Amino acid sequence: MEKSLQVLQERFGFDSFRDQQQEIISHILNQDDTVVLMPTGGGKSICYQIPALILEGVTIVISPLIALMKDQVDALKVNGIRAAYLNSSLSPAEQTTVIQQLQTGTLKLLYLAPERLFDSEDRFIDFLSKLNVSLFAIDEAHCISQWGHDFRPEYLKLSRLKQIFPNTPVTALTATADKLTLRDILSKLNLNQPKTFISSFNRQNIHYFVEPKRNSYDRLFDFLDKHRNDAGIIYTLSRASTESLAQRLNEDGFSALAYHAGLERSERERNQDLFLKDEVKVIVATIAFGMGIDKSNVRFVVHMDLPKNIESYYQETGRAGRDGLKSTALLFYTYADLLKLKGFVEIEGKQEQSEIMLKKLDKMAEFGDLRTCRRKYLLNYFGEQAPDHCGSCDICLTDFEKFDGTEIAQKALSAVARLNESFGTGYVIDFLRGSKSEKIKSFHKNLKTYGVGKDISKEAWSSYFKDLINLDYLSKSDGQYPILKLTGKSWNVLKGQEKVMLIKVTARQEQSEETVNL
Ligand code: ADP
Ligand code: ZN
Repeated sequence: MEKSLQVLQERFGFDSFRDQQQEIISHILNQDDTVVLMPTGGGKSICYQIPALILEGVTIVISPLIALMKDQVDALKVNGIRAAYLNSSLSPAEQTTVIQQLQTGTLKLLYLAPERLFDSEDRFIDFLSKLNVSLFAIDEAHCISQWGHDFRPEYLKLSRLKQIFPNTPVTALTATADKLTLRDILSKLNLNQPKTFISSFNRQNIHYFVEPKRNSYDRLFDFLDKHRNDAGIIYTLSRASTESLAQRLNEDGFSALAYHAGLERSERERNQDLFLKDEVKVIVATIAFGMGIDKSNVRFVVHMDLPKNIESYYQETGRAGRDGLKSTALLFYTYADLLKLKGFVEIEGKQEQSEIMLKKLDKMAEFGDLRTCRRKYLLNYFGEQAPDHCGSCDICLTDFEKFDGTEIAQKALSAVARLNESFGTGYVIDFLRGSKSEKIKSFHKNLKTYGVGKDISKEAWSSYFKDLINLDYLSKSDGQYPILKLTGKSWNVLKGQEKVMLIKVTARQEQSEETVNL
């Protein structure tokens, strides 16, 4: 029997490999550099843990999450695997023990934060270079990229690894990387002809729903009422609202507890524990909850507030349905949340970073606004192709009232063309509506399509433009001020060869209405 399969069965107690695990492992055993993109819960750890056991020497696992190292190492020890971690939570004596284990070659895996690996005088790196390091596994590798949603400057130091250890294979693993982030991971780590493994991000059993954030407590009540026996997580933005919502749910007869980083450690652990043991059904939490939690029967994840980016949303909703059974992701969305979060980003300040954060936030709001399949949007976001309809998101399950909007589309597209594909949606709409404002450049007022869309309100135009973008009749450039561009499909419409169905605006109206605070 192949060695890696034998280790999987004997040391981890699993029958067979999932998807690409075996292929990834054999590349690592072959000393190749690899990049692994696999959704949370997909089984990334085994991809480096098995090589760690097979290869001679010690595997160094870089992880940003000091708080989780102990759990990860304990889990390995339960399987009789010699693993340890080094971080500030250990006493000096405990640290000395680990160092000795390294010197005597008795460890197979060592978990470290990047700042520990690269201490100020390279003492630890010098020490390691005298040992037999079999592999570097860089967990949460997206932290190296400023394009990622969780950039950590200390990760940048990892770009030195390949200089210092040119012959030691490196594997970079992450659950969340859009295309830019992935490219960044590859270049920053200076990997040697790396092989990239991208697993599908599709979580077939998770059904995606978005509802307008209005009377959201009542909507939540109805939802929970239908899920009385199910375990679920409800995310809210603020610590205070986790507590007030949990309390209100209890008063209304649900079993709920709060979780956030401001609670006493003992209370936090107790609440988490009760949830894991199914003694309480619902946990109302800030995003502090969930990292490293492996509860298989979470049936729903609700977001009361807009997440900061698609990566977080995907990761948080991904905590539902690890057992493969049908589960629900429900988001309450209002435009007001977008504005509020934008305000936060601007206050936080860091110039270059905030531009990226704002862009990611816009993508998240775009998801809330979609009139096309939500699953498709998520998968495309992560660089994956997907069919137009999934059949299991609110959009695919709703019959929107549509009408023949070909003429409207032609006006919109020709306006974009006349304006030389150089303006954003707001400008194009003002132009179409024949705005007299100073903003519209005087020479544009002489163009043929100026004012041809007077009879349609601003809101309606905005809705149609979203549809046209979602349907790929227009595209929007990246950047802080996205510009509308024509696509290959635009010309069929302009030439009258293609009919465009748009969604009636009334169907969309409630979406933009205002919010009710809990
Ligand atoms: P990730 O790091 O990708 O989020 P983990 O490595 O923590 O995922 O694995 C998620 C869960 O799947 C764990 O409970 C793990 O034990 C389990 N698992 C991983 N590989 C297999 C396999 N081949 N067969 C069965 N279970 C597996
Ligand atoms: Zn769908």
